[in-house]
Amino acid sequence: MTVNPTRLVVALCVAALALTSLTSCEAVTPKVTITYEIAFKGSPAANHQQFADHVAKTLADGRGWTMHGRIRYRRVTSGARMIVWLVREDHMVDFGPPCMHLWSCRSGKNVAINDTRWRTAAPGWSLGLDDYQHYVVEHEVGHWMGQSHAKCGGSGQLAPVMMQQSKGVAPCKNLVWPLLWERKQVAARWGVSVG
Ligand SMILES: [Zn+2]
Repeated sequence: MTVNPTRLVVALCVAALALTSLTSCEAVTPKVTITYEIAFKGSPAANHQQFADHVAKTLADGRGWTMHGRIRYRRVTSGARMIVWLVREDHMVDFGPPCMHLWSCRSGKNVAINDTRWRTAAPGWSLGLDDYQHYVVEHEVGHWMGQSHAKCGGSGQLAPVMMQQSKGVAPCKNLVWPLLWERKQVAARWGVSVG
């Protein structure tokens, strides 16, 4: 049996309408393009290709900061607006405050992902490592997009992506992707609709 790819995409989109804030299945033209580079510091132990692939997957995911395609992230080899680093922990301080050896951070145009956290997640994390890798990139890129830290909204609620979930999430529950109100803030700042 052959599947018509266009019909498949439309079918998936229609299914997504029921589950998300998506309001249309028409193709979305990107309004903002953010270029980024992938870089490494201090010979981090994690697989470099897996890091680059996973970051690309996170930045392209409709549940994240893309606003369903209105913001596009494009990898380039030089001159990027944002640099996403994988950094061995003893080199984290090279980026200056607020970067410290234990955690990931954002400093200026740099999003610095801590190699130890990337490989092992964090003590306060209850989901899988793949989810943590999505979360930590969403959180630090969220800072780059202009977001500050957010607090848990109440006992049993899903945590905002801008909560410091690596340091503990109680009484909230871990969540990988931004909440709708977080995406609305970023969308407003970047002049796009939320999707
Ligand atoms: Zn943070």
